Amino acid sequence: MAVSFSGGAKAEICRVVPNKKCCALAQCFGVLLFCNSFTPDGIRIITESREFGYILPKLFLKAFDLEFDSFPSLESPGKLVFQIDDPEKLEIILTEYGFDHNLLSLHVNLPVVENDCCKAAFLRGAFLSGGSVTDPEKGYHFEIATTHHSVARETYALVEEMLGFYPKMAPRGGGQVLYFKQSDMISDCLTFLGAPVAAMGIMEAKLEKELNNKVNRRCNCDDANTSKVVEAAQEQLAAIRLLREKGVLERLPQKMQAAAKAREENPESSLTELASMMEPPISKPAMNSRLKKLMQISKEATV
Ligand SMILES: [Zn+2]
Repeated sequence: MAVSFSGGAKAEICRVVPNKKCCALAQCFGVLLFCNSFTPDGIRIITESREFGYILPKLFLKAFDLEFDSFPSLESPGKLVFQIDDPEKLEIILTEYGFDHNLLSLHVNLPVVENDCCKAAFLRGAFLSGGSVTDPEKGYHFEIATTHHSVARETYALVEEMLGFYPKMAPRGGGQVLYFKQSDMISDCLTFLGAPVAAMGIMEAKLEKELNNKVNRRCNCDDANTSKVVEAAQEQLAAIRLLREKGVLERLPQKMQAAAKAREENPESSLTELASMMEPPISKPAMNSRLKKLMQISKEATV
C-alpha cells in the first residue's frame, strides 16, 4: 500500500516516543480525546498508520502501565483497531485524567497539559489519532477532528498558545474539526509536531506553484504586450500605405515623412526605438503623436 502524505507525516512523528511519563500521559490524552471512541464503557482507536499502530501499545504501557484488550497484528491489511473494554483498566485511565465514571462530557483537563513539553505531546497525540494532512499537490488542508465539543474549544486555545495562530473551527457530523488552509501555517504546525520533512514538502510545493504562476504570468504579459505593439504597428503601416497611394505623404512636413519612413522600414520596432531613429532623436510621446497624426490624416483622406 502506498503511503499517503498524511501517513508519511505520522510516521515521522512516531519516530519519537515520549521519554517522560508526563508527556506519555499527555500524548495518550490527545490520542483518546481525538480517537474514534472514548467513553467510560470503552476505548476504540482506529488507524491506518502502521507506525502509530507500532508505538500505541508502548505509549499506553508507559502512561498507564497497561495493555490493550484487543489489538491487531501490524501485518494485517487495512485499518488497525485497538480496544480497551476492561472496566478496571478504563477506571485507571479515567482517574488518571481526573474524570469520574459518571462524566457527561470530556474536556482537556489542564493539569495534564500544564508543561510545554506535554502540550506538544498532547497535540501530537491528537494529530496521530484524529488528524490528517492533504498532499500539497492536491491542496492545502490540515485538520484534527474530535467528537467532543469542549475538547475542540480547548484545543483551539492550546494551538494558538503553542503556534501563535488560531486554526479554523467547523462542525462536522456531530463533532468538531479544527483546520488550517494556509500553507505556511500547515508547515509550521507540522514542524512543531515533529514532522519537518512533511513541513518541507508543503513549502516546496508552495514554491513550485508560485514559480509556475510567475512564469505563466510573465508569458501571458509578454504575449499581450507584443500583440498590442504588433497591432498598433500594422494600423500605422496601413495608414502610411494609404497616404502614399493618395499622394498625400509627399506633401506632408519633413518630420512627418521621416516618422512614416522609420515605421515602414522598421515594422517591429517599439515607439522608443523609432523615436531614437529620428534626426535629431525625439521623445517617445513625440514619436507617438507623429504616428497618431499620420493615422488621423489617413482617416481624413479616406472620407
Ligand atoms: Zn511532559
